[in-house]
Amino acid sequence: MKDSAHAFIEQAAKHLELSSEVVENLKKADKEHIFEIELSSGKKFKAYRVQHNNKRGPYKGGIRYHPQVNLDEVQTLAALMSLKTAAVGIPLGGGKGGIAFDPGKLSADELEELSRKYVQQLHKYIGPNKDIPAPDVNTNAQIMDIMVDEFEKLSGDTSKASFTGKSIANGGSLGREAATGRGGVMALAELLELEGKNGALTFAVQGFGNVGSFFGSVAQDNYPEWKLVAASDSEAAVYSAQELDASELQKFKSERGRFKNYQKDGIKIISNDELLSLDVDVLVLAGFEDTVTKDNMKHVKARYIIEMANGPVSHEAHDYLTSQGRTILPDIIANAGGVVVSYLEWLQNKNDEKWSEDKVNNKLENYIKKAVDDVYQYAQSHQISLNEAAYSIAIKRLIGKD
Ligand code: NAD
Repeated sequence: MKDSAHAFIEQAAKHLELSSEVVENLKKADKEHIFEIELSSGKKFKAYRVQHNNKRGPYKGGIRYHPQVNLDEVQTLAALMSLKTAAVGIPLGGGKGGIAFDPGKLSADELEELSRKYVQQLHKYIGPNKDIPAPDVNTNAQIMDIMVDEFEKLSGDTSKASFTGKSIANGGSLGREAATGRGGVMALAELLELEGKNGALTFAVQGFGNVGSFFGSVAQDNYPEWKLVAASDSEAAVYSAQELDASELQKFKSERGRFKNYQKDGIKIISNDELLSLDVDVLVLAGFEDTVTKDNMKHVKARYIIEMANGPVSHEAHDYLTSQGRTILPDIIANAGGVVVSYLEWLQNKNDEKWSEDKVNNKLENYIKKAVDDVYQYAQSHQISLNEAAYSIAIKRLIGKD
């Protein structure tokens, strides 16, 4: 993912005719906090917080708990956050954090101790006007509530604006849980509108987790003419030539169901590779990075590809697919719904307000529609891909040349 993200930055920088010095500065983070956390049991874990860029506002980005968390990954995701907040026009910067471990192997008490110790190490460098972390892979509202509590004890700040993605009872925003998936649906709808292609379509979702399942259910609720025909988890995919019920699948996954065991008339179990090569109008990539690469790019038949995960299409695959006339809606726009609603949560906390879900969703729609419109017009007028346009717009804002 790092190589592809750097290649995308370089491609846009070339389009903008930026010097190599400016490009190197864009890739570099302002600060990197790398440390070890030791639990009372003696178990030790490597932890990170990379603060990439705060020229447009406080650093903003999630905290990931995963065995494969490493500095390279956190650096890349932090840079993507700076580009994302700039691309959607919210006054925040970019950062990312993580701890390298398998959450399934710790008890609830150990998980709480680890989360509190992470904040103890970082509390001087984070806070409502410095750096505002959020959930990411394997972290959730419960972890954010623990972190806010620890931050409050150490700093005396009671605004709750130090973290976003909190539980509703603890200052979280209505609409946050579904925001990334919802933002993706809004972005796709706007893109199709701009292309004059609104109407019936089929779509498949790779990675039916938080983001993918909300993409499916929000699409089903708002666009009955869009038919979900396939959805996958890490082991298998469910497929129906007619239509799948996204809400039913979401319920099945939330009850820890595994798609390989899903049984219903008219539904076939297929592999993840088969899902990626389905002849659908829209392929939604909501699993992990580097899902479509030079190894499988020639199998992809979808006309539109929506990057809901971060970096799911490699640079090489992106260039190949766009040269074949496919349209790829880039991650820094497609999955920005989460950070937009995080920003709205932070605003509510700072102003001691609680907004209705409709108000949050309307504001989200305004940001996403404007971002898609800006990127689409820029791509059209310069005859470049949506990805190059999104990166170019974001970079111009980051270096103050907008
Ligand atoms: P999640 O863990 O809830 O869901 C991921 C899904 O992908 C799961 O269903 C998992 O089974 C599936 N999966 C894993 N490996 C797979 C594989 N090889 N093939 C097919 N499916 C596979 O995570 P999430 O919160 O939905 O995030 C998904 C992606 O979106 C991540 O890349 C994340 O960084 C990105 N993202 C998330 C948010 C957010 O608000 N949650 C915001 C922006 C970007």
